[in-house]
Amino acid sequence: MANNKTHNEEHCSFCGRPASQAGMLLSGINGYICAECSSQAERIFKEQKHQGSKFDLQGMVIPTPAEIKEFLDLYVIGQEAAKRVLSVAVYNHYKRLRYNKEHGDKNEVEIEKSNIVMVGETGTGKTLLARTIARLLKVPFCIADATTLTEAGYVGDDVENVLVRLLQAADYDVAACERGIVFIDEIDKIARKSENTSITRDVSGEGVQQALLKLLEGAEVNVPPEGGRKHPEQKLIKIDTRNILFICGGAFDGIERAIAARLNSNVIGFKGDEKRQELDRDNMLQYVQPMDLKKFGLIPELVGRFPVLTALQPLDRDALRRILTEPKNALTKQYIELFKMDDVTLVFDPAALDLVVDRAVEYHLGARGLRSIMEGIMTDLMYDLPGMPKGGTYTLTRDEAEKKIRL
Ligand code: ADP
Repeated sequence: MANNKTHNEEHCSFCGRPASQAGMLLSGINGYICAECSSQAERIFKEQKHQGSKFDLQGMVIPTPAEIKEFLDLYVIGQEAAKRVLSVAVYNHYKRLRYNKEHGDKNEVEIEKSNIVMVGETGTGKTLLARTIARLLKVPFCIADATTLTEAGYVGDDVENVLVRLLQAADYDVAACERGIVFIDEIDKIARKSENTSITRDVSGEGVQQALLKLLEGAEVNVPPEGGRKHPEQKLIKIDTRNILFICGGAFDGIERAIAARLNSNVIGFKGDEKRQELDRDNMLQYVQPMDLKKFGLIPELVGRFPVLTALQPLDRDALRRILTEPKNALTKQYIELFKMDDVTLVFDPAALDLVVDRAVEYHLGARGLRSIMEGIMTDLMYDLPGMPKGGTYTLTRDEAEKKIRL
């Protein structure tokens, strides 16, 4: 590489490219390095640092389900049923890790992985729950959107790239990555359109489901460290997915009909009417079963890989109101802190908060609506904030909030 170097141009001492190709070069005592080589060097250093780092499961303090739920309560309002199910699933997941570690190949019982599917409308807290669990367990966590995933070789994001993201979240510590949590959102969007109709059958999602299945089955997967497509000369990192916990979320629009149909046909021939009355018709989602996911268009093998299934409730007015003020990261608490930094005390008139909740209910966006409505109200105020009298108090009244929403 040195032969055709021009002597009056500086070259990267690692890849040999001249500054005209490599861009800015940093100079050392005896040479230069380009940006690309320096970031590659950084990655190699990180990999080396973590090499051989063994996760000490013996020393790991596994919180009890009650403790896990207590922690979830700090961030997630309502969703009691889902929180209990998740707490137990996560508890078992980590007990399983420890069991396998302690018994090695001699384990008499094979404890299965507790991958989880959460069914619930948008903005009800699915992502928040998964994220909060990862925060509690201090394990790497990443979010992938199922709609962007494709089978290998198609335009889009290879399913394996999900692992690249987890590896990046783990700071390239492979051992940490292998016990991390992946949250796959919008899993319902890769469903086949219909279980039976072959003419209109949409198989596009099925290939992605198959690819996903491979990851879930506990395979060793080779991933390109930087993501993107694999190519022959590339160095690949091997990741064992056996212990990675997969949590999926989806709204499964319309699944209530399948649930209702199943429940109705189940009670035919029995004292149907009595049984039907016991059903909470307004919230059929709570009765969701794996077979409903199949009916919706998830392939049976995939459904089988998710032994834990739970439903999230639509958030009612009361829950939305609490979300505004109670969690550790509640929006009102955040704004109050932001104002405090400018030495202004911010007070929310309860009637103003009621108004925000009213609007969120109208928009049908669950808790997601709360943030956009609040932002709409608060942006103007925060613009004026530095000019407000120091040491003063600002009270957001309902009238004021209404005016800002209308703007
Ligand atoms: P989903 O994944 O169900 O669409 P998210 O978890 O992304 O919804 O929720 C969107 C936002 O709404 C979150 O950032 C969170 O602040 C808030 N949120 C949603 N549900 C709850 C809840 N049950 N408790 C507290 N905050 C919530």
